[in-house]
Amino acid sequence: MSLQPDSTSTVDAAQTVPPTTDAPAPFNKPTADLILRSSDGMNFRVRKAFLAEASPVFEDMFTLPAPQNPAGSLPVVPMTEDSRTLEGLLRLCYPASEMPLRTLDQAVTLLDAAKKYAMDSALNFLGERLVSFAERSPIQVYAIAVRHQLPDKVIKAALNACLNLIAPTAKLKRVVDFQHISASAYLSFLDYRDRCAVAIDVSVFGDSTWIDSNRWCWLTCTNDLCQVHVTHGPVTFKDNIYKSPRAWWFQLHMSCCRNGLRSRPCGKALELIFFNYAAAALSEAAKCSHCGPRSVADLEEFMVILVAKIDDVVAQVETDIVW
Ligand SMILES: [Zn+2]
Repeated sequence: MSLQPDSTSTVDAAQTVPPTTDAPAPFNKPTADLILRSSDGMNFRVRKAFLAEASPVFEDMFTLPAPQNPAGSLPVVPMTEDSRTLEGLLRLCYPASEMPLRTLDQAVTLLDAAKKYAMDSALNFLGERLVSFAERSPIQVYAIAVRHQLPDKVIKAALNACLNLIAPTAKLKRVVDFQHISASAYLSFLDYRDRCAVAIDVSVFGDSTWIDSNRWCWLTCTNDLCQVHVTHGPVTFKDNIYKSPRAWWFQLHMSCCRNGLRSRPCGKALELIFFNYAAAALSEAAKCSHCGPRSVADLEEFMVILVAKIDDVVAQVETDIVW
């Protein structure tokens, strides 16, 4: 704990030895009633009321007797945080103060500081901002969120971004943040991915009752020359309508999507699968006079619905993290 709320830690600003600099606005106002001095000598003039509201640690400190200071000088509290960290932390305390979060390292530093001073609202704010890094650095954000036990929505966002990764162990072991989480938390990440894969397999590909049978060419085709899917007989679609879908869609396209999503169980992974495998299915569809002219537009439109369906199924999967 860097904050030392005893009489030896508060010293008269006028008696402090090393040269100091003044912090920028809003921490340079004459209306301040306390100075926090960063480890690199920057004086932050603050209002105790704002700090006490944001942090019970500060609040407790302010209940202690104030040190005696010469007239006109403010008490100074030396802090172990450097000026960059302290400014970020204080901006989280001040109302209507913008706190740009540019890097994950900055987020981690501020999360550590906010946790140290028990600043719950700041932790929530930083957690929400952390979500914006989830797409770019999902594994790191997951590890950070677990380490700081951030709200479930932050962990869920990171886990969902992780679903689109094929992350070999060699890559994972270089993620420094994993050194700060338990093996259970790591296994929770693998377990979540497995449960998402099962949920998609069962609810999206094992169940076709969410698909409108009157809308797509592979289900409205009556061309005898267009091969139907016959392996398992007719399939049940929306409104309990039984139909045998055309093989080019069911056996070529949907099977490729189903298999591809087992290792990357998320809607975003479909973009790559579609790009890689749709050509084979469309080539087969082109042989049919009914499906051929409609297959590209229908399949593109269907993929949008399929992605949404998959993401909806994943959204229902609980995170169930073991810290
Ligand atoms: Zn056809």
